[in-house]
Amino acid sequence: MNIRDSIRTIPDFPKPGIQFRDVTTLFGDPQAFRMAIDSLIHPYAGQRIDKVAALEARGFIMGGAIAHQLSIGFVPIRKAGKLPGKCMSESYTLEYGEATMELHEGALKPGEKVLLVDDLIATGGTCEAGIKLIRRAGAHVIGSAFIIDLPELGGRARIEALDVPVHVLVEFDGD
Ligand code: AMP
Repeated sequence: MNIRDSIRTIPDFPKPGIQFRDVTTLFGDPQAFRMAIDSLIHPYAGQRIDKVAALEARGFIMGGAIAHQLSIGFVPIRKAGKLPGKCMSESYTLEYGEATMELHEGALKPGEKVLLVDDLIATGGTCEAGIKLIRRAGAHVIGSAFIIDLPELGGRARIEALDVPVHVLVEFDGD
């Protein structure tokens, strides 16, 4: 069983030139899914974590499994306009245009220790917006965990520069 082999690559999605790393095949493989969740939380064994925060949308699938495994709460960070309650917003620059992520006010308490998860880190912009939201809530990001890193896009260095450790399971070149 190999996590890398369970990830499917779809060329030219959602636009020409992008190699889309599709983790739905990993999620659909019971051994790969369990191994990925176990491996993502392995470095944090014995550490206090109060909440898992995850980035929409594939991050939610991992975040729910991790929260259940650790018996802690789950907090969603969503694209603008999706969360029903009063939110804090954080905008960031994309290749073309801007995106905004939101976190419910009161979802995290000051001083809580949070693990932030998503399926993949590319430029790190989405993750950075998540970190800023968690910090604005007064909580601490004790680490960030991803199945995939695309090292050529520099996201890992960008997040480490914010003093957040990055844990990834596999790297893919060529994106
Ligand atoms: P970024 O903000 O640049 O780090 O982009 C990360 C977000 O975009 C994650 O939520 C990923 O799911 C998605 N993403 C970016 N590039 C890819 C890719 N090549 N394959 C799959 N998902 C991607």
